[in-house]
Order: sequence, then C-alpha cells, then structure tokens
Amino acid sequence: DALANKIAAGEVVERPASVVKELIENSIDANSSWIRVEAVEAGLQSIKVIDNGNGMSETDAEKAFLRHATSKIKDETDLFRVNTLGFRGEALASIAAVSRLTVKTSQGDSAGTFLSIEGGVITDRTKSDARKGTEIVVDDLFFNTPARLKYMKTIHTELGHITDLLNRLALSHPSIRFEVVHNGKPLFNTAGTGDLLQVISQVYGMSVARKMIPVKHETLDFSIEGYIAKPEVTRASRNYISTMVNGRYIKSMQLSQAIIRGYHTLLTVGRSPIVVLSIDMDPVLVDVNVHPTKLEVRFSKDKALAAAIEDMIHGAFRSTSL
Ligand code: ADP
Ligand code: MG
Repeated sequence: DALANKIAAGEVVERPASVVKELIENSIDANSSWIRVEAVEAGLQSIKVIDNGNGMSETDAEKAFLRHATSKIKDETDLFRVNTLGFRGEALASIAAVSRLTVKTSQGDSAGTFLSIEGGVITDRTKSDARKGTEIVVDDLFFNTPARLKYMKTIHTELGHITDLLNRLALSHPSIRFEVVHNGKPLFNTAGTGDLLQVISQVYGMSVARKMIPVKHETLDFSIEGYIAKPEVTRASRNYISTMVNGRYIKSMQLSQAIIRGYHTLLTVGRSPIVVLSIDMDPVLVDVNVHPTKLEVRFSKDKALAAAIEDMIHGAFRSTSL
C-alpha cells in the first residue's frame, strides 16, 4: 500500500543520486548497451533515464511499480546467488511513491506502454511507441515528503553524488555506452567499447589514464583485474578507489585499506591512489543482501581476499620500474 511504499522509500531513496542508481541498475539488468541520463537541477527537478534494453510488457510494467515486484528472484535460494544488480523489487515502487513519474516501455514487438504515476497512484495509462527499451522520467522528487525534501543539500552537493555514482557505473560497465546530460549540457560520455582504460580516460582524464598500470591476479577463489595508478598520481580522497565485485560496484573499507597497504610506503600519509579493480568470485562467497542499497557487502573469505589484493599491488610495483 501507499504508506508502506512511502516508508520503504525512506530506506532506498535517500537523494536524487539514489534514484539515478536504481534506474540505471535496472537498465543494466535489462541488458542495455546504451543508457542516457538527463538530470535537471541535480535531479531535484527531473531525472530521465532512457535505455535500449529488453523493455517490459504492459502487465509487467504495471506490476513493476507495486511493492516487491521483482522478476529477478524466483525462489528463496536465488536470494543467496544473486547475479543481477536488483533483486528486492522495491526500488521502482519506492521511487514512484515519492515523485511524479512516467514510464514508456516496449519490448520492441508491438505497441509500447505508457504509465503516469503520482505519489504511487497510477493516474494515466495508454499505448506508446514501440521503440525497444524503457524511458523513465522522475519529476518533483519528494514533493509529498516535505521533511525529506528539506533535508536535501545544495545542487552542487547533489550533483557531486550523481557524478560520483555515474563515474563508478561507467567504470564497472565499460561495454555500455553512457551519455550523461545535466541542465542540457553534456557531463560526460563513454564509448562503450569494453576497454576499461578508455573509460578511465573519459572519467578521470587522459593524463591519469597514461599513469595507470594494468594488474591481474588469480587465486583459487578470486580473479582480480584492473588498473592502479602510479604512486605519483594521488588524491586527497578515497573516492578514487573503485571496487567491483561480480560486476557490482561496492564500497568496502577492508578492500580500500588492502589497496592502500599494497602501495606500502609509496604513498604519503593522507593521500589515496586512483584504483579501479574488478573482482570475480563464486556468488556464494559474497553476501550482497546486507543493506537495501546493496552498496555494502560481506565476504566469507575477507582476509584471503584482502591479502591477495595487497600482494598483487605490492608485486606490481616491485616488478615495475617507476
Ligand atoms: P528489482 O530491480 O529489485 O527487481 P525494481 O523495483 O528496481 O526491482 O524493478 C522492478 C522490475 O521492473 C524489475 O524486476 C524488472 O523486471 C522491471 N524493470 C525495471 N526497470 C526496467 C528497465 N529499465 N527495463 C526492463 N525492465 C525493467
Ligand atoms: Mg532494481
């Protein structure tokens, strides 16, 4: 019901960047190779996400905005072997509960579906064009939750959160072409060629990309691959450490610390490196169901993973003449 959705919204939808995150993760789960994001006033006024993914049927589209409507989990055991980015089936319902939202979606065969939803209530449904993919527009976020709206920071801060997020999503999906527009101006684009170094160059700039060293390490349980910046390129914030586990961007103190330890004395105290690491492992070794935003995870072999990362980075610098 509407109240439960509003409560759940507080958990999942913290700020405009959370909406962007959930919408893009759905686009990724729908096998999109192209995703376009258009935000107005850091998403507080409007967020539009367009993709060329699988789209939804008319009945699925209506169901998608109900609570716990996920097409991604069939039974309980699936909960422990999650491969898709979403799986709780509460994001769209939560977003729709606290905004004015429209969705246009089509599987590309016949006509598409258009829905208009206001504060969680469907106010309009018609047919739309048949272009394969989905377009969701979220206007007036938090219009009916004034307490949450009051809590929003400046446009500058909210845009910072969106940019951070988009950088990470682009880095974790080099094969997807991202187009990001803010207030009508392009923020950044990626080519979607699958080349991670190219994405690093598009996100952090050419001068950074030129200072990146490729790394790769395999153990029985983990396969680790990515780029680490030479220690001469540092930042004052740990925000430039990006870790992906099974294709999902995650935040982990443990992994960030292992990365920094890998640099040993090569880093000045208080400085942080630029690192992009992609780690693959059996899904049973990682619990992503810790928090609704799925940003924090729990590893069952955390010590071994941290040691593998530290050794890999240490080894890379021992063998590279800097
Ligand atoms: P979850 O991602 O956890 O399943 P969501 O609330 O984010 O839950 O989405 C609900 C459902 O709507 C998804 O399971 C999916 O079937 C469908 N869906 C949402 N966005 C898209 C999209 N961009 N393309 C295709 N299907 C989508
Ligand atoms: Mg989702």
